[in-house]
Amino acid sequence: MSRFISRRFDALKQYVPGEQPQDQKYVKLNTNESPYPPAPAVIDRINKAEVENLKLYSDPDCRVLREMLALQYGVGMENVFVSNGSDESLSFAFMAFSDKDTGAVFPDISYGFYKVYAQLYGIDYEMIPLKEDLTIDPADYFGRGKTVVIANPNAPTGIALKPAQIEEIIQKNPDNVVVIDEAYVDFGGESVVPLTKKYDNLLVVQTFSKSRSMAGARLGFAIGSKALIADLNKIKFSTNPYNINRLTAAAGEATLSEPSYYNDNCKKIIETRRWTAEKLSKLGFTMTDSSANFLFAKSDKMDGSDLYRLLKEKGILVRHFDAPRISPYLRITIGTMAEMETLICALTEILSNGGSV
Ligand SMILES: *Cc1c(COP(=O)(O)O)cnc(C)c1O
Repeated sequence: MSRFISRRFDALKQYVPGEQPQDQKYVKLNTNESPYPPAPAVIDRINKAEVENLKLYSDPDCRVLREMLALQYGVGMENVFVSNGSDESLSFAFMAFSDKDTGAVFPDISYGFYKVYAQLYGIDYEMIPLKEDLTIDPADYFGRGKTVVIANPNAPTGIALKPAQIEEIIQKNPDNVVVIDEAYVDFGGESVVPLTKKYDNLLVVQTFSKSRSMAGARLGFAIGSKALIADLNKIKFSTNPYNINRLTAAAGEATLSEPSYYNDNCKKIIETRRWTAEKLSKLGFTMTDSSANFLFAKSDKMDGSDLYRLLKEKGILVRHFDAPRISPYLRITIGTMAEMETLICALTEILSNGGSV
């Protein structure tokens, strides 16, 4: 760091993304991307004419994209905000709804970015421990007087709360915003988007990065009451009005025109998850009950960090978190069936060698 950076960032610990190694080709099961490419309509849409249009600024209101999302989710256009990845929606939500007086509360084991945003914006934050079985107890979030942020399904456990449980959290926090991060909801969770019509303090955040095969395009969105969306727009128009670039907007529109392609991909991923879980159990792994496009698994024979390293030597990348309570686990993204067969073969070999650690 230079001697010029503001002292207010002294305590900030930046987010560490999963590895995106450029040195060799890995079976990449570490950052929960889709193993399937975008739909053909998306590839057709990014053509010469779209590229030529890059000389012009994008639509700061993202009208077409918001109209399509509104239609798909049965809400009004004024209830939809689009962002540069869902990370930006989350970032704006922390900035808009919390500060040193109105804090934020989220689980101790969840998406690592929540803590980073809280630190970045000088928010008084509190992390509530997951229960022993790594589930969230909704009652822990009743009436805390702070902005509540919960990933549902949670990451990296994949465990989902039911809409009724989330509704209770919303009801018990009438004077605070409840942010529900549904990055993985399309893989078997139940969305609370319908509840945004009933509660003006609910903000639901989703992304095109996982179920919609567009991690590299950076597109996310938030759905909530008109007033909450206006708050996010206030932040956006005070930082970066053209937050969605033209190519990403075009790709997003084409994506929304092919829902059945993406539904089919989700079905394949859910089926591959079931197959992988069964094979992992036979190898002595135990897993949380995942409704996401990953499994969170620990072996009865070998530590998470050793497994991570031995898999990497075999050209397979998974995610390991060196953190209390979850260090025995690996978070394994569900890839194609062929990729998961490769993984199971490698694990069988590693574990039958006693690991040769
Ligand atoms: C992947 C992920 C996001 C961020 O995704 P973007 O690529 O920024 O849309 C947000 N929340 C959770 C829980 C995630 O796993």
